[in-house]
Amino acid sequence: MTFPFLLFRFTIIFLAATLTLAAADQPARKRVALVIDDGPVPEHNTQFLALLAQEKIHVTFSHVGRNVAAHPEMSRAVLEAGHEIANHSYTHPHIKDLDDATVQREVRDTQEVIRQATGQAPKWFWAPFLEQDERLVAVVRAAGLEYFPREKFHFISTDDWNSTTDAATVRLRATTAIQDGTVILLHEWPEKTLAELPGIITELKRQGVEFVTFSELAEGK
Ligand SMILES: [Zn+2]
Repeated sequence: MTFPFLLFRFTIIFLAATLTLAAADQPARKRVALVIDDGPVPEHNTQFLALLAQEKIHVTFSHVGRNVAAHPEMSRAVLEAGHEIANHSYTHPHIKDLDDATVQREVRDTQEVIRQATGQAPKWFWAPFLEQDERLVAVVRAAGLEYFPREKFHFISTDDWNSTTDAATVRLRATTAIQDGTVILLHEWPEKTLAELPGIITELKRQGVEFVTFSELAEGK
């Protein structure tokens, strides 16, 4: 075996070992998208934005069209702060109970009111009560957006909307069994959610979570 050949072999072995060590050093990513439903809620919106700014994280707010119509400046502030806004229907109905024309209005009117408030139409639809069916998916697509593919991700509902879910349980659900590609559902209106959010964010950061928006998660960023 010639010397140059041996040198070549050792170089390759050395490089392979270095790369293996580097890979072992990289902790696995743990991307989490918080989605905060039903806003903008005037009593809480400013406090949510202040907290998220202080924590330097971005989330997705799923806004209800009629709430945007009442407080367009709040949707604008959400977008300007770097968060994403999803379309969460106009009146938060049970979509299955509505005729086709009404479902179309729920989706399209919300796109329009958010576009007027912020200059940008949402990219994602997030269904009220998480009720999704093929008709809704088709209506959403025809309106130029997509149903957020919740089924592709690890989904946690904190059930913070339920008055029987206490604050400690909301925090426990939002911080347990977190894996890469997790979506955690919270709401903007419950007092307990606002009170628990700082603790939830601190614990998720301690677990090495990287906070992303719906779009960043869906695009694998
Ligand atoms: Zn909702």
